[in-house]
Amino acid sequence: MEKKNIDWANLGFNYLPTDKRFVANYKDGAWDEGSLISDATVTMTECAGVLQYAQTCFEGMKAYTTEDGHIVTFRPDLNAARMEESCKRLEMPVFPQDRFVDAVVKTVEANEAYVPPYGSGATLYIRPFMFGSDAVIGVKPSNEYQFRVFTTPVGPYFKGGVKPITIRVCDFDRAAPHGTGHIKAGLNYAMSLYAIMDAHRQGFDENMYLDAATRTKVEETGGANFLFVTKDNKVVTPKSDSILPSITRRSLLVVAKDYLGLEVEEREVYFDEVKDFAECGLCGTAAVISPVGKIVDHGKEICMPSGMSEMGPVTKKLYETLTGIQMGRIEAPEGWIKVIK
Ligand SMILES: *Cc1c(COP(=O)(O)O)cnc(C)c1O
Repeated sequence: MEKKNIDWANLGFNYLPTDKRFVANYKDGAWDEGSLISDATVTMTECAGVLQYAQTCFEGMKAYTTEDGHIVTFRPDLNAARMEESCKRLEMPVFPQDRFVDAVVKTVEANEAYVPPYGSGATLYIRPFMFGSDAVIGVKPSNEYQFRVFTTPVGPYFKGGVKPITIRVCDFDRAAPHGTGHIKAGLNYAMSLYAIMDAHRQGFDENMYLDAATRTKVEETGGANFLFVTKDNKVVTPKSDSILPSITRRSLLVVAKDYLGLEVEEREVYFDEVKDFAECGLCGTAAVISPVGKIVDHGKEICMPSGMSEMGPVTKKLYETLTGIQMGRIEAPEGWIKVIK
């Protein structure tokens, strides 16, 4: 298989259309069998549920080339299960989990020429998503839906080395206590755009959202879960019903416990405790872990002991172990790696 002539190491995180995408349509109460198509555009009525009332959800995952030349994805069954939860909460039909994984595999296979080579630092980002596609003007769920999977090659997240980021405590809320924070709905991102642009305008990289009800507990950022490390090397992650259950974060907790022998805790984390932690990182598919060097609460700075020039030692070990598992350098727990080719 001839790879595309792409400067892998200098790719950013941008959409570059690839040759094929998987498309299935839901109509009259059933999904069709779906197929791989070449058309990267979607044509639908101006009154579609997704356009009027944001009835849409998505997933994000990656395909990697391993050290021994296989193409793999990481825990796609968890993305399938999470998308089922998102669909149910949004009154959308579930695309069966086994068919979800199959669609991901088929789409990656069809775009093999775009899977970056081992060692380039780049990966093939995979975006499964679903939306209401028929006309709704009164507020109600759509009758027809489209499920699609496209891929796009993305560059190394840490170009020119890891750089700890500065985040601020945000005055806006991301998720209501009994809202949709725990599902991957497009609407959660639409309403966070103002907050993130405002953070950037004020010179911060990201927002730390607190729980909307009491504003005393740490939730997550706009698109990544928190991991903290205590001064005695315990790995702590916030627990809340309005946090999106990150697959990266859940995997890192297993790595911490089973590979590094560390104690792990998933519990409520009060913002008042944050100043006592030794390390802080943001977990998600894009970066795996992005280290946080500084947290600013309305002018009051919390400087993590790990500093502004490198990852803390535990964060670094977690990062290296999980990326080692994904790239096939370290043996994975049973069922984590789905070999595509
Ligand atoms: C997707 C997402 C994450 C990260 O989840 P991963 O499965 O690790 O990629 C974290 N927070 C939010 C709000 C998300 O949408």
